Amino acid sequence: MAKIPYRTYLTEDQIPKQWYNLRADMKELPDPMLNPQTGKPATEEDLYPVFCKALAHQEMDNTTRYVDIPDEVREMYKIYRPSPLCRAYNLEKALGTPAKIYYKFEGNNTSGSHKLNSAIAQAYYAKEEGLTSLTTETGAGQWGTALAEACAYFHLPLTVYMVKVSYEQKPFRQSIIRTFGANVVASPSNTTEAGRRILQADPQNSGSLGTAISEAVETALTTDGCRYVLGSVLNQVVLHQSIIGLESKTAMEMLGEYPDVVIGCAGGGSNLAGLIAPFMQDKLLGKADPRIVAVEPASCPSLTRGKYAYDYCDTGKMTPMAKMYTLGCEFKPSPNHAGGLRYHGMSPILSKLYHDGYMEAVAVEQTRVFEAATEFAKIETILPAPESAHAIRAAVDEALRCKETGEAKTILFGLTGTGYFDMTAYTAFREGKMHDYIPTDADLQVGFDKLPKLPGIQE
Ligand SMILES: *Cc1c(COP(=O)(O)O)cnc(C)c1O
Repeated sequence: MAKIPYRTYLTEDQIPKQWYNLRADMKELPDPMLNPQTGKPATEEDLYPVFCKALAHQEMDNTTRYVDIPDEVREMYKIYRPSPLCRAYNLEKALGTPAKIYYKFEGNNTSGSHKLNSAIAQAYYAKEEGLTSLTTETGAGQWGTALAEACAYFHLPLTVYMVKVSYEQKPFRQSIIRTFGANVVASPSNTTEAGRRILQADPQNSGSLGTAISEAVETALTTDGCRYVLGSVLNQVVLHQSIIGLESKTAMEMLGEYPDVVIGCAGGGSNLAGLIAPFMQDKLLGKADPRIVAVEPASCPSLTRGKYAYDYCDTGKMTPMAKMYTLGCEFKPSPNHAGGLRYHGMSPILSKLYHDGYMEAVAVEQTRVFEAATEFAKIETILPAPESAHAIRAAVDEALRCKETGEAKTILFGLTGTGYFDMTAYTAFREGKMHDYIPTDADLQVGFDKLPKLPGIQE
């Protein structure tokens, strides 16, 4: 048989025409979202003030197995998709493992991550519905960049509230967002009530995701035709990201391959849920039984140490409450260089699958993550995002176990993005100045104590 190539690309025609909705095949569904005002299960209409109608529908739709990707969305996908399925020959050789390692690379677009897959869909539906602007928050900057790119394409004005420390530490990130035409505001700012209140109490406040979300939501609620959008966690985002897994599965089929293990980093869970979607479908339907592994930072361990409970999806407590693994929406993760994984909760879909034993989770420390990232960059020629490097770490560990046992497993992991804006982190690692922060049980308890109390559901 011919040698499997380093890179396998599908043709434009092979880009999926439909997203796949995992919920349609789940044996048991995630518990319903709750309206934060009434504590009752949220209806599609309850979501309209927060999400545009098509997206509210996708959020609540547990039954439609395949959802058509609108032509306009698919046209923009064609600019940077299909993304390559890569065979990590050099990594395999360096590790001396009998395992076959594949990764799906989502960093091949300017935003540098998979987030563009959902940003395009969300901007498209907002435009379709006649909305006239969007707001969002961004911490590390990847989501803000992806959404700015999508909004530029669909001519939709966007304001991004960027956490002030990131704004100052990552001037190039905010410059890219501006280049795409979006307005970037360092949060807390004096452009909103919420921001002015925070600044009055503490003029030096350097911001947090919570303050940025409060400002973005306030702007959405007080501006006509404006909505606030989120880049992870939600069912709609998981749906859009299924394109990653669908393409991966087609490419592997072309190569006559099927993964024994699928590994992905997990912040809010959207890339992992997307990558595993068709493989999890096989598992749910009893067609195959790959192991599925979520990798999270030891500093923000929602699956491995969190509680399965109702919580707000956002720190601003505006979105409906979802049953998920969470550290509590007021949990403040200690500093960690993988900004995109510093999220308190986990996709309700992934949470339910994990709870029901369909997947595993591991937590890894950032110094070990950067060790893997650095080796990977040297031999595979891609500088990985710190978030993505969590998956590399776990894939390398798996391949090293194969070396011990002599098993030639097929490993597939998600390489979600590139790390060009994370050089401060790479520098800290190189200079031996990076530290691992692992919260104590007492630290975590502070977040658990703030979980919402819901009479009869959660005391
Ligand atoms: C945001 C981000 C993640 C984590 O988000 P998920 O929703 O868990 O996928 C991972 N990798 C990169 C590069 C990111 O930008």
